[in-house]
Amino acid sequence: MRAYTHPACLAHDTGPLHAERPDRLIAVTAALRDAFPALEWRDAPRASRGQLLRVHAESLLATVLETQPAARVMLDPDTVLSPASAEAALRAAGAAVAAVDDVVRGDARRVFCAVRPPGHHATSDTAMGFCLFNNLAVAAAQALSKHGLERVAIADFDVHHGNGSQAIFEAEPRVQFLSSHQLPLYPDTGRASERGVGNILNVPLSPGAGSTAFRAAWHEHLLPALEAFRPQLLLVSAGFDAHWRDPLAQLQLDADDYAWLTGELVAIADRHAQGRVVSSLEGGYDLQALRECSVAHVRALL
Ligand SMILES: [Zn+2]
Repeated sequence: MRAYTHPACLAHDTGPLHAERPDRLIAVTAALRDAFPALEWRDAPRASRGQLLRVHAESLLATVLETQPAARVMLDPDTVLSPASAEAALRAAGAAVAAVDDVVRGDARRVFCAVRPPGHHATSDTAMGFCLFNNLAVAAAQALSKHGLERVAIADFDVHHGNGSQAIFEAEPRVQFLSSHQLPLYPDTGRASERGVGNILNVPLSPGAGSTAFRAAWHEHLLPALEAFRPQLLLVSAGFDAHWRDPLAQLQLDADDYAWLTGELVAIADRHAQGRVVSSLEGGYDLQALRECSVAHVRALL
């Protein structure tokens, strides 16, 4: 199994008190290197302008790539652009694109992208929620446009709703977006009534819901929808902030829940997608939880 990361992802400087900090990525990559010595690590390439423009507006590329701030600037109360952020954002999106190329060409079956900034809140034209470019949306567009796939699914188990991924694809029937998330919580979207063109399925969970409700949401609603969609490629928005240790949410999962869900997702990918899974790190703000959950997730991908 392959993994992408890049040193530039550590240089995206959100400031001393920000939850989305370089230590997160250091914790994930160190834990994975310890647990899986045979994992094949590669440096992420940059996404190209053309790849980004399939899902993003020129105005967002201008903001992220051409602002060239001398110091940190706040794009919104949560989202920071630092001098090194453009390079990190290009590598984070480029990792997912390269991973899609790998699995579609049969170069790898499963790929994990250990990157930051995360992506799933970024909309077509707006960086938000710690996200600059929508890494997996760019990757899904690569699968459709470059490789001609007709059914690409994004499974998002981050504790926050992937509003950006949903908004980008809500009128695109070739992409299915499935999400469990805590509600109420940032960004206050992801109600069950949000269905796109029938390609969106949201299961909001109450604070404190815990393992049983989380597994039921996937077992009864989200996994059957994924199975029925028969994806040719499965992308996973892998946020680990639903863990009980996480300081930003209250969903109370543990590492076993991520292992279970990843196993279920892999089984569906094996049935319909030749086993092709690309997973990209989204949230997760407790370092110990990040270590345990990323290892549990990758073990189930292997
Ligand atoms: Zn999150």
